[in-house]
Amino acid sequence: MSKLRLDLLPGKGFVPHWNMACQEIGNVCEQNLQTHTKHTAPGSGISRWGPQHAGARELANLYSPGKRCQEWISVILCFSLMAFNFCHLLMNFHLSYIWYILLGTVAGILTADFFSGLVHWGADTWGSVDVPVLGKAFIRPFREHHIDPTAITRHDFIETNGDNCMLTLIPLANMAFSFHTLSSVELYHSYPWHCYVFALAIFATLTNQIHKWSHTYSGLPYWVTFLQDCHVILPRKHHRTHHVSPHETYFCITTGWLNYPLEKIGFWRGLEDLIQGLTGEKPRSDDMNWAQKTK
Ligand SMILES: [Zn+2]
Ligand SMILES: [Zn+2]
Repeated sequence: MSKLRLDLLPGKGFVPHWNMACQEIGNVCEQNLQTHTKHTAPGSGISRWGPQHAGARELANLYSPGKRCQEWISVILCFSLMAFNFCHLLMNFHLSYIWYILLGTVAGILTADFFSGLVHWGADTWGSVDVPVLGKAFIRPFREHHIDPTAITRHDFIETNGDNCMLTLIPLANMAFSFHTLSSVELYHSYPWHCYVFALAIFATLTNQIHKWSHTYSGLPYWVTFLQDCHVILPRKHHRTHHVSPHETYFCITTGWLNYPLEKIGFWRGLEDLIQGLTGEKPRSDDMNWAQKTK
């Protein structure tokens, strides 16, 4: 059953966590995963995380038509390039490639998982919504996700996948250019590399869709829950570890495979100490400011 943990966080007072709770209860419970109260201002506001949180409402309103347009263009271009490259991979397939395909796929998935962690950690930990251009467009969704983890389940396909589609446009376009220009001998030799890049691009593109599924507790297709249960993609229970304040661990959200070794060696904490030592910046200060908003 649920486990209540009390932590004392700098500037936050006592923060009760419903840690790893609510496994069976589903989406509604996800909103109540964490409730925080300020010790310093009694009665000044108990802010329950979810769509009604003051910060979450403000962040949701910053989603603009221009941003929506960028997402639509990215999704159309990305899926067109994927289809083009997939056809060319099939046309150049040879049975002797089978081990390269398997190896390239596993390496591509691991690389995608690592980059999902790196980007997620970077956006969660540094910068702010006020950073010109990047802040509202790319940091805002990360802030919103911590104080309203269910918002992602209400995002449609375009909003969920638009940014990741934009990230993979360059490698996919480069691969398409190679298929268009290289000779058949050159393609033969570079085929394993293309398998790796294609697997990486597919999993990187689908990362936020996989992440959305990890927050969805009803109506998921059977094959999605099967993949989650086999830990081929990010399982729901696994990802809940990240959603415990102050959101400082388990950043990899494609498969989550790398969360175990990276946690073991204290990878993210080490990077944060290094950056804080060099710049004096405090990790997650903007994230904590949004979490504490009451109006
Ligand atoms: Zn996060
Ligand atoms: Zn999440």
